Amino acid sequence: MPQLSNSLLDITVRPEIVMSRGEGMYLFDSQGRRYLDFIGGWAVNSFGHSPDFLSKTLHEQAKTLINASPSFYSEGMLAFADKITAISGMDRVFCSSTGAEANENAIKIARKFGATKKEGAYKIAAFKGGFHGRTITAMALSGKDKWKDLYEPKTPGFVHFELNNFDDIDAMPWDELCAVMLEPVQGEGGVYPADPVWLHALAERCKKENTLLIFDEVQTGMGRLGEFFASHLYDITPDIMTLGKGVGAGFPLAATLTTESLNIMEPGELGGTYNGNSLAMAVGIAVVEELQKPAFIANVKDREAQLRSELTPLLESLGCSAIRGHGLLLAFDLPQARAGELVQNCLEKGLILNAPQPASIRLMPPLICSEEHVLEMLDVLEPELTKLLT
Ligand SMILES: *Cc1c(COP(=O)(O)O)cnc(C)c1O
Repeated sequence: MPQLSNSLLDITVRPEIVMSRGEGMYLFDSQGRRYLDFIGGWAVNSFGHSPDFLSKTLHEQAKTLINASPSFYSEGMLAFADKITAISGMDRVFCSSTGAEANENAIKIARKFGATKKEGAYKIAAFKGGFHGRTITAMALSGKDKWKDLYEPKTPGFVHFELNNFDDIDAMPWDELCAVMLEPVQGEGGVYPADPVWLHALAERCKKENTLLIFDEVQTGMGRLGEFFASHLYDITPDIMTLGKGVGAGFPLAATLTTESLNIMEPGELGGTYNGNSLAMAVGIAVVEELQKPAFIANVKDREAQLRSELTPLLESLGCSAIRGHGLLLAFDLPQARAGELVQNCLEKGLILNAPQPASIRLMPPLICSEEHVLEMLDVLEPELTKLLT
């Protein structure tokens, strides 16, 4: 495989282009070629590339305070905590830098709960096809088949079930569980939403069994689904919610949110050098303020409707699946495992798409995507899809 660097550790196969600049919905490579970005930094850059409010916020904060150490309160830490708990309907927050860490912190809180409030129950039920990050423990929590035998031995204590399977709710070892954890819409697995009736049944069972319900909203949170959070879309308040990706909009920021009754950690039990880092807090505050502008969420819903109505007839005529997902986290399946080819062909035409599975295409553009951007995307996707499948 060709590689552009003899210094980088080879971890993946990347196209032979070098990105040098981003502006709104577009990335530009070192040759000055422009790409319409429908992966948005991996469902991260919700406000597009280098939006003014974010670069100004970072610049101003960098001049004021970058890092006061995790041992002090800072103004940003206090303000972000108030804002993110208010908008999410949760009570308490602990910040970190990545989604995997936010999930690790959720696991720690759940295990502490099990140790102190449920006779030592420590297991966590999760779901096949789920994705929760790449630390050794987050990998064990993820239900990804490909990782089954990787980096053994993994952290014990996780059991996996089928999403949307009612029998599997009964099959869970409830007495041994401190928590059930899931992505309300599986993102990396290929955009599979939890069935609302099933999720409500699961939530009720968790309550009855004194077992925490944890939503990994690293991908679904912060407006991605056309609601602030998946918990709002499903009208279920989890005991713990984790955020990443969109909460920093490109800056490394993640959060573990809990209800008041889970404010149970003793000094020293949770920590991390960058928790409440001032640059990250300034970003988080600015992001929440932007998210709360009504036109922002309205646009996500409008773009979803536009994508569904514009794409559906073509997908039907080509034998593709219906579009699944919510807001601007959408996917569809091709009749053949040729999604990688389609992504490659579109890239050559200046459009960035993602194939989370060999036969599926995922759309997760920045949430500021306009009607014209959708049309511009379809101008490339429609002929390429038609060419590939006919
Ligand atoms: C991306 C993602 C993670 C991991 O986030 P990192 O910042 O890469 O550690 C965890 N959970 C979900 C649902 C994700 O989409």
